[in-house]
Amino acid sequence: MYLHGTSRINEQGHLEIGGCDTVKLAEQFGTPLYMVDEAHIRNRMRQFVTAFQKTGLAFQVAYASKAFSTLAMNRIVEEEGLLLDVVSDGELYTALQAGFPPDRIYFHGNNKTLSELEMALEVGVGLFVVDNFTELSLLDRLATTRGSKARILLRTTPGVEAHTHDYIQTGQEDSKFGFDYLSGQVFQAAQLALSSSGLELLGFHCHIGSQIFETEGFSLAIGKMADLCKECQNSLGFQTKVLNVGGGFGIRYNDRDQPLPVAKYVEAIERGVRIGFHGMDIPEIWVEPGRSIVGEAGTTLYTVGTMKEVPGVRKYISVDGGMNDNPRPALYQANYEAMLANRGAEPVAETVSVAGKLCESGDMLIWDVSLPQVKNGDLLAVSCTGAYNYSMANNYNRVRRPAVVFLREGVADLIVRRESLADLLQNDQLPERLKRKEVSVTDKDAVLETEG
Ligand SMILES: *Cc1c(COP(=O)(O)O)cnc(C)c1O
Repeated sequence: MYLHGTSRINEQGHLEIGGCDTVKLAEQFGTPLYMVDEAHIRNRMRQFVTAFQKTGLAFQVAYASKAFSTLAMNRIVEEEGLLLDVVSDGELYTALQAGFPPDRIYFHGNNKTLSELEMALEVGVGLFVVDNFTELSLLDRLATTRGSKARILLRTTPGVEAHTHDYIQTGQEDSKFGFDYLSGQVFQAAQLALSSSGLELLGFHCHIGSQIFETEGFSLAIGKMADLCKECQNSLGFQTKVLNVGGGFGIRYNDRDQPLPVAKYVEAIERGVRIGFHGMDIPEIWVEPGRSIVGEAGTTLYTVGTMKEVPGVRKYISVDGGMNDNPRPALYQANYEAMLANRGAEPVAETVSVAGKLCESGDMLIWDVSLPQVKNGDLLAVSCTGAYNYSMANNYNRVRRPAVVFLREGVADLIVRRESLADLLQNDQLPERLKRKEVSVTDKDAVLETEG
């Protein structure tokens, strides 16, 4: 397993993260446990900021909170001076409860509900990334009624879709997100926004994909957006103030993944912008990374339970979590690496497959991972689980969601407690007619007598 950030094998042969021995963490907090390397998160945020500072461009780095959102995480985002991107009232509420300044939050999403828009206007969210014509007119009406102006970007689909190692240029831009270029919708939306009393158009947004390992897609998308900005300047007299080029920067889950250093993505964005806006004023450039901020910082710790050998085929080891705490292997065939956290210095001795404990054949965390001879009670650490794990976790099989700890300089802070059995029932309601009838002692005796 590749050791990211502050992860290392200590003198006892144990996996250590943020100066904390993970074997001790298992004793203290139990397993499964999401362990987060706080220094690594801050370091990644600073890499984006530093890289942009070097470009000399005006910029903002936003954190896409859907990757991992908790009170403590939101505090770190604010401390590091980033903007925050939310896509639901729940993410907004979490940020507000963390004391995140509303004017540094912006609201994304293709179907923001009426109540979400009203809530966001009420608390003074800084900006909306408007996704479609329905939202455009609704937001205009709501802001006008309040006598205010909502600051907006328009989400655009430039017809560039980036995947891991390549990109596709799609002609018809078939996506549920954003205004498309080909049919002229995006230009039309800009025209509408500029003539709306309740809206203040600041610029444009695009997000071309996720886990991207090359820069070509960003360059192409920025080129298309720059053309749009030029058109808007020439025919609408609108000067773009903000250009948000999205997130999607890749991370290393395993050795097949070869992400670029953050600085390389930023340099490519700068090049694209300088070429695209040649002869024009360059707008403020925004990025909104999620995975590349928190992904590598997370490691999940499990206890190995049962084992099963299918002779001549494979050996399964089962852990005390699975697709409820990490749905990504089942959803996306995501590949993870792992090690035995309690025997980190021992040489590998066998290849096993790691199964979760949930009732689905598809509940497999890793197919084929090389480990020392695995024993019942060993601690298995799965790396790179910081993004889209806790945020996608669920209670399938009424399995409780794990605790989350932030690890830093030898101190482990509990930032989300493990769910209790009672938590699982907190929303359950029992209608009167289904309530268990109190059976009196005499009745019970009567039943026994007749049966007897
Ligand atoms: C998901 C998403 C992001 C973050 O993507 P990562 O791959 O986690 O960096 C940014 N912007 C938008 C609009 C998104 O949907």
